[in-house]
Amino acid sequence: MPDLASLAAQIVDGSVEVVDLTAPLHASTPILRLPAQFGQTAPFSLEEISRYDERGPAWYWNNIHTGEHTGTHLDAPNHWVSGKDLPDVAQIPPQRLVGPAVVIDRAVDVAANPDYLLDVADLEEWQSVHGTLPARGWLLYRTGWSRHGDDPASFANADDAGPHTPGFTPAAARYLAATGLLGVGVETVGTDAGQAGGFDPPYPCHDMLLGSNMYGLTQLRNLDRLPVTGSIVIAAPLPIAGGSGSPARVLALIAR
Ligand code: MN
Repeated sequence: MPDLASLAAQIVDGSVEVVDLTAPLHASTPILRLPAQFGQTAPFSLEEISRYDERGPAWYWNNIHTGEHTGTHLDAPNHWVSGKDLPDVAQIPPQRLVGPAVVIDRAVDVAANPDYLLDVADLEEWQSVHGTLPARGWLLYRTGWSRHGDDPASFANADDAGPHTPGFTPAAARYLAATGLLGVGVETVGTDAGQAGGFDPPYPCHDMLLGSNMYGLTQLRNLDRLPVTGSIVIAAPLPIAGGSGSPARVLALIAR
């Protein structure tokens, strides 16, 4: 029998720490901006219903307005046309929302080059040191980008050529799609690089990972607090029936 009582005791005594990888949701939470000819996602906002006043004397509550892909969120396979017949966000088995996690750190490279792309050789080098990527696990890509997370302009880092944010090469996306990972997690607004619309294929992580029944986790924070291997990540999107993704609370369990 698994020893859940022991795990529970370790959470209570703090020897297993719970790290929040989620960015706060507010009106300034950065969102993806697509070229003007495309539909746009909504920013997050609160609409107050009542706050201990004549609209509700003893209670405070809000309606929320948000896109599915606003803030820290999960991309479901059906988000991309390559995965259109695969599960929506409510159909993802809960067993596949929790798994071992590993971190590949390219924050130094990204600080020097915001268009930095992780390639197959980086994944092979990482595995030569740390072992095979975990089956049914999360690969978390640390870029340091979350430090821009409270400033939408620097988070997008856009110029006339579009956004400049780090990502994966098409070859790396193809490689990862064949691994059996649950998915990849990133600090940026999406799993693909800012310039990935011009890649072949365009948006290769979305195309190949979601098309392979894998998931994306975006706008993660606190990846610097995780060990390279040995953490457990719990991603909890809302079960929006038919939805393509959802804002998610993403938590990591780490040994102290
Ligand atoms: Mn998304």
